[in-house]
Amino acid sequence: MKYLLVVGDGMADEPVPSLNGKTPLEAADIRCMDWMAQNGLVGMCSTIPAGMPPGSDVANLSLLGFDPAKFYTGRGPLEAASMGIDLGKDSCAFRCNLVTIRDGKMADFSAGHISTGEADLIIRDLNHLLSGGFVHFHTGVSYRHICVIEGSFQNLSCTPPHDITGREISGYLPEGEGGSIVLELMERSVDILKKSPVNEDRIAKGNVPATRIWLWGQGYRPTLPVFSEKFGVKGSVVTAVDLIRGIGRLAGLDIIEVEGATGFVDTNYEGKADAALGSLEEKDFVFIHVEAPDEAGHAGDADMKIKAIENFDKRLLKRIMDNIKGDYRVLVMPDHPTPVGIKTHTGSPVPFILFGKDVKPNDINTYTEASAGRSAVFVEKGHELIDLLFE
Ligand SMILES: [Zn+2]
Repeated sequence: MKYLLVVGDGMADEPVPSLNGKTPLEAADIRCMDWMAQNGLVGMCSTIPAGMPPGSDVANLSLLGFDPAKFYTGRGPLEAASMGIDLGKDSCAFRCNLVTIRDGKMADFSAGHISTGEADLIIRDLNHLLSGGFVHFHTGVSYRHICVIEGSFQNLSCTPPHDITGREISGYLPEGEGGSIVLELMERSVDILKKSPVNEDRIAKGNVPATRIWLWGQGYRPTLPVFSEKFGVKGSVVTAVDLIRGIGRLAGLDIIEVEGATGFVDTNYEGKADAALGSLEEKDFVFIHVEAPDEAGHAGDADMKIKAIENFDKRLLKRIMDNIKGDYRVLVMPDHPTPVGIKTHTGSPVPFILFGKDVKPNDINTYTEASAGRSAVFVEKGHELIDLLFE
């Protein structure tokens, strides 16, 4: 028996006025997911434990069967794990975004989706001019990087930059233990980036410059149980997002790289589907994560989100369903909602479909937030949902 967990990041949403009150899932043409709903089990699941931040890190830990209340130590250490950064006991790993601040406001949490090549040059400058012993920067992908600082930052609060688009940053600076160290690094980066030839070039081309670093999502090295020991199956992960790679690596799952997987709406859906099918020839479990709908939600673009969901349905899921061999079960769902109306995540429950061998359908015939909400099936503890897949 083969098992698949297929996640459309941020796919769930709320009624959108420009869609005549429909959600993107309701407005999208999703024949594959609707068919799976008709022939499978549809329900709702709470992936974010009460009181925890509704991030992809918390939600995807839940979906892989790890209780975030027990295992979550921050986003930074998970991404650091994906980059193979070895964290010592006192090494605190921060997510380091390259952002664009204009007139004191967060203009763009992604510095215009700066390319990895451009960002790497900036990260080298930061290591050259800012690091010095207890601080080190590591290049990631596009605007997402890691800064490791030796020291104690236990009660430090930092703000995810994608939560404050368009707002004054003065109200969201680091506060608490070690806050002054972190703030100083962020402020000293302004001058370095102002002088960066990368930005001169970006401005000349009409692209937004990266004006400073933004540090958040900090934490120390987590310890996760080994997935194959917990569920008795060997598995792999197909994703373009560092965070998900990190969770997979820490859980002992193999990470599959896919050419052209961008972590954005232009990703290689077919390549991801084929990579997953390929890995099932030797493994029994595959986790496929698609970031596109979440990026559309953060952009506040309903049409872009519908397109991402339709691509997820047709170019990835249908391709897998048409080509998978033998007995299998698949769990399809978002990790959390990213409503286009608010451009950020919520912790609301999400709809799921469980389809495949020995799965008894319930009376839900379409896959939407509302139809799943009518289902009698509600999984309160998200980290227990995967047990249904392996049952
Ligand atoms: Zn997410």
